[in-house]
Amino acid sequence: MIVGQGLSGTCFAWRSYFGNKTFKIIDKENSFSASKASVGIYNPITGRKYNVTWNVDKLFYELKCFYKKVEKKLNQKLLYEKNIFRPFKGNNEVNDWNIRLASKKYLKFCEKINDDGVLTNTSGYLDVNKFLLSSKKYFDNLRRYKSENFDVTKLKIKKNYFSYKNEEFKYVIMCTGISEKKINLFKDIKLNGVSGNSIIVKSKIGNDSIINKGINILPIKKNVYHIGSTYYHNMKDEGPDELVSKTKNLIKEDISLIDSKFGIRSTSKDRRPIIGEHNKIKKLFIMNAMGSKGVSQAPYCSKKLFNYINEDKNIDKEINIDRYRS
Ligand SMILES: Cc1cc2nc3c(=O)[nH]c(=O)nc-3n(C[C@H](O)[C@H](O)[C@H](O)COP(=O)(O)OP(=O)(O)OC[C@H]3O[C@@H](n4cnc5c(N)ncnc54)[C@H](O)[C@@H]3O)c2cc1C
Repeated sequence: MIVGQGLSGTCFAWRSYFGNKTFKIIDKENSFSASKASVGIYNPITGRKYNVTWNVDKLFYELKCFYKKVEKKLNQKLLYEKNIFRPFKGNNEVNDWNIRLASKKYLKFCEKINDDGVLTNTSGYLDVNKFLLSSKKYFDNLRRYKSENFDVTKLKIKKNYFSYKNEEFKYVIMCTGISEKKINLFKDIKLNGVSGNSIIVKSKIGNDSIINKGINILPIKKNVYHIGSTYYHNMKDEGPDELVSKTKNLIKEDISLIDSKFGIRSTSKDRRPIIGEHNKIKKLFIMNAMGSKGVSQAPYCSKKLFNYINEDKNIDKEINIDRYRS
């Protein structure tokens, strides 16, 4: 049983499907799930300090293979490659980037640099909504999806299996994002909620690449942009105002707001995913804390967890739940 059909649960479900395992997903369809607000961008260089993502080569190789395989199965385009343009404000930024580019670890992502900004590659976006909805429809047709609230009091631990309501499951995989805090099956980990918004706007900005400067401006259709994101260390919907004003500061063209989305990210103390087995209940697993990088982390993490369960392969120590246990 896979509980939760956000990016984590959906990626794990596809892994199970491609690995010829039977499964059932249940999801209560939370309006505030992180995946529903996601802009869907994958980007090898992130954050205010422009860090190169942990394990970038393996993560990005996996994400491409994985989503392409799903695209083929669903016969739908889901993954788009797009470069990222980072405009410079002044000479300091030009210098900083030239220093960074002296290192191979950055240089390999550089498409071009001039006084206006730097264009980096190996990035793009997943149409997250389409991925989630099409996967749900596909699994629903196979009777492997149910819209249902997971009630922890109904989960009974038997000798070699779990019983949940009238069904039996060999394994349970918890992919419930920030709701895990409330469900509280994994008491030895601490998850933090980071809420945020993304907005859809109409404008004539006319860029083909993603513009990145504090926010990301992603072109999704002619004159339509998905823009994100905000980060609040609370669980509240602060609305679209901050993003609208940041967008207006960054571009000259008028914008009109079409939609505003809200979600709560689940994050860990060290900002890495948390994958692994319960410390007391065997065959109960978790895949959580995708933070702000679910698109690139979920394909890799689902593979690691699937192989751990089925082939007893190791989970990297950086993402293994064991790092929180003494
Ligand atoms: C505004 C915003 C922008 C973002 N932009 C990006 C981006 O550009 N790129 C990127 O990689 N990441 C981005 N992220 C982060 C990304 O969305 C998350 O990393 C990812 O969605 C986490 O997925 P998840 O499946 O672990 O959790 P969630 O998406 O939160 O999914 C949890 C699921 O569990 C279900 N659930 C919870 N409780 C129960 C229960 N009791 N019973 C049944 N079901 C339950 C919920 O309904 C939900 O569907 C963004 C996040 C936000 C908020």
